Amino acid sequence: MNRNRLPIPQEIGLLRDLGFTDAYPPATSSERPPEPAATGGRLERLLAVAEEARSCTACGLCRTRNRVVFGDGDGQADLMFVGEGPGAQEDRQGLPFVGPAGQLLTKIIQAIDLRREDVYITNVVKCRPPNNRDPQPDETAACRSFLDRQIELIAPRVIVALGRVAAQLLLGTKTSLGRMRGTWHEAGGVPVRVTYHPAFLLRDPSYKRATWEDMQIVRDRLLGSDGEEATGEAGDDFKAAFGGSGSEDPRTQ
Ligand code: SF4
Repeated sequence: MNRNRLPIPQEIGLLRDLGFTDAYPPATSSERPPEPAATGGRLERLLAVAEEARSCTACGLCRTRNRVVFGDGDGQADLMFVGEGPGAQEDRQGLPFVGPAGQLLTKIIQAIDLRREDVYITNVVKCRPPNNRDPQPDETAACRSFLDRQIELIAPRVIVALGRVAAQLLLGTKTSLGRMRGTWHEAGGVPVRVTYHPAFLLRDPSYKRATWEDMQIVRDRLLGSDGEEATGEAGDDFKAAFGGSGSEDPRTQ
């Protein structure tokens, strides 16, 4: 799951500005298996899409943003997280999921034995909606091609939608989060699992247990099992991962 990476040299500031934290050895590296021809140039194309987003003015959010928040992480990740949009700290730093919610997302990732740099993290809209309001339909429509191309080029094996708004926008539905959880969906040909947004978990930690269970199912899918029941015991592992207890079967957000 952890594909070989090389640290990007500090001097390649553009890559960092665009949200990339890793680069890859050439396909001839003895440590890296040859890639299918179909994947050739994907990182370069992803960089081009990121550069396009950086100067995008396709919706009104361009007028109030400080930084475009394109995405962060492994450009060949097996697992992609999608939130709804950047917040204030993300807008300042140009990176998704920083601050307390981002720290909790890092713990969620670590709970399935991955590192944050192993996954790719992005949002449905790449510019901050003022006052953290929900993205408007014209904004999500204008921005959708960036997300679609990220999914196509990164080609993750699983996407996790974080929170009701992100899941509804990603899946094109008005279904409640409670109904979307607990089953597999699909976006761009990729299996999608829906769970709670880390910011929501900070407000109501009782939903951490349900999130932990969602992530166990995601982990099992990445490991090759399609089982609908989490195989992990929600005991010490859960407490170590999330640092608290939660309700057993929450159905609402
Ligand atoms: S939110 Fe998306 S569509 Fe709107 S300006 Fe930013 S990058 Fe462009």
